Amino acid sequence: MHRPRTCPVSTNGVSCGHPVIASHSQQRKGPLKEITEAGHVVGFSNGPNAKPSDNRRQDFAKVSAKRASTFPGLCAKHDATVFSEIENKTLNPSYRNSLGLAIRCTLYEAIVHTDAGLFLNWLREVPSFEFWMDPTVYTDELEHMAHYARYNWDLVNLLQRIESKKSTRKLFFYSALIDAALPFSSTGCFCIENDIAGNQLQPFSDFGRKFSYAQLTIMPQSNGTTLLSVSSTNDRDRDSSWRFVKSYAECKAELLPNAILRTALEYTENTYFRPSWINSLNSSQKKLILERFDDRAVFEVGKEKPHASLAAPLDLEISGTRVKFASNVT
Ligand SMILES: [Zn+2]
Repeated sequence: MHRPRTCPVSTNGVSCGHPVIASHSQQRKGPLKEITEAGHVVGFSNGPNAKPSDNRRQDFAKVSAKRASTFPGLCAKHDATVFSEIENKTLNPSYRNSLGLAIRCTLYEAIVHTDAGLFLNWLREVPSFEFWMDPTVYTDELEHMAHYARYNWDLVNLLQRIESKKSTRKLFFYSALIDAALPFSSTGCFCIENDIAGNQLQPFSDFGRKFSYAQLTIMPQSNGTTLLSVSSTNDRDRDSSWRFVKSYAECKAELLPNAILRTALEYTENTYFRPSWINSLNSSQKKLILERFDDRAVFEVGKEKPHASLAAPLDLEISGTRVKFASNVT
């Protein structure tokens, strides 16, 4: 289980192989810095990088900014160079930035699902436990994890081929600049189900289908703006990819911050908040956020969301409006 992981970056067919470091899927000197207070951000008690709690109820959790959003990703050299275009600088909406952010989200997801698959496989393979347990209950989940991990690695590969112009497939993207540093940062790569207008684009419970995935990045920046990127490739189902991205392009400028928070809560576990913003909410608003955070979306395979799930209002004022955008779906 604890074998050292090596860097998956491959150059001219030769993989790097150096030991990996804890990469940040959200840069510590970038978006995380904008929401860090006294060394901490706020995440979810059952979210990634939060200390396990005895309380079974979902709650907010203080997470050290050093740990938030980390994953065993790349070696130190490649961590510094692979994402240099999208790191530690202020970004504007553009195709290049959306593509770089999409690769980062997908790589995170591929590694997280590979980890989960390895863990489940280990559970199944170990000969005995000191307590009774039936590892075969994990078999279905293992197959799903293996499937997800494999598809995410394929997607990383496809995105890199699009980047180096070796693939004619397209990345549909919508990237927007919001005129306020939003009090949350988030990244994710997920199966598309519904769009923000309330249309179901892909039936998730139908196992026979090939799913399209989308990538989301919400990045508050040091100049008091937030860069948003929503993207999807046309490798599986062009129509659902295009329609998903287009629903964001059609969102009213002043409603975009609320719409992307709903998306983050529903589709990714990798979301963190500025502590003072969470503290400023009343208890029913806090409850709304906790209820909307759907961690099952990440690990419970085959659970279909209500069709209007993303369109359902989240009764919170979040200041900020779109002032610029770039897209190839409009
Ligand atoms: Zn490397």
